Amino acid sequence: MALTAIISDIHGNLPALEAVLRDARSAGIDRVLCLGDIVGYGADPVRCLELVREVADQIIMGNHEHAVLVGPMGFNPLASAAVQWTRRQFDTSPDASDGLDFLGRLPHRIDDDELVLVHGSPSQPLDEYLFREDTLEHLPRSRDYAPKLANSFRLIDRPCFVGHTHVPGVIPETMTWIEPCDVPEGFDTQGRPCLVNVGSVGQPRDGVRDASYALFDGRAVTFRRVPYDVEEAARRIFDTDDLPDLLGERLLEAW
Ligand code: ZN
Repeated sequence: MALTAIISDIHGNLPALEAVLRDARSAGIDRVLCLGDIVGYGADPVRCLELVREVADQIIMGNHEHAVLVGPMGFNPLASAAVQWTRRQFDTSPDASDGLDFLGRLPHRIDDDELVLVHGSPSQPLDEYLFREDTLEHLPRSRDYAPKLANSFRLIDRPCFVGHTHVPGVIPETMTWIEPCDVPEGFDTQGRPCLVNVGSVGQPRDGVRDASYALFDGRAVTFRRVPYDVEEAARRIFDTDDLPDLLGERLLEAW
């Protein structure tokens, strides 16, 4: 069975992306799928896009690609500043000539025989967050009380991979939350509908600095964490005048 690496939320962090691709190759992967947010926040958006285009078999659009194309509507000031700086890189860098055209053609959802790919959620592919707080762990124990998840489960009939929150984990049909550390040997999807968040390559927000991604063999999901040179990624942000320093500092603490 083919082994797939599923990566998301790279956010212009080249050292993290390179480390993840090295790790995935050493695991013997057959293909790479990308769930979007290749750009935004980090200091190397153009090079990250080049590299993802080179290695990924399929790429879908994230909300940061969308914001680079049409403007950062509804973004906080930190994210907005990063989107505007990122857009200028694509407008001015000679290496980015067809980058914006390429981003504009990215689909919002991909279905294949074994999986579904969206950036946020099946019901709002571009920008709905599916948090642990949306599961029945935090809500009365009836599906009626988890309308957000119910809407998403109505739209999938197989495992669905998502990113966007930058926190890895699985929401199975029971609408609970499974932490990666609960399934160290992997989570067996049995091909059933579930929502698998692969976490973020370039800006993890779960207190662990290491880059996050997942391997999928068509049935089981294995979560991976990959150490990389976080200080170097932060330094590149500090050295870029128009990127807020806070974007580098947050990498060091993974929030
Ligand atoms: Zn993101």
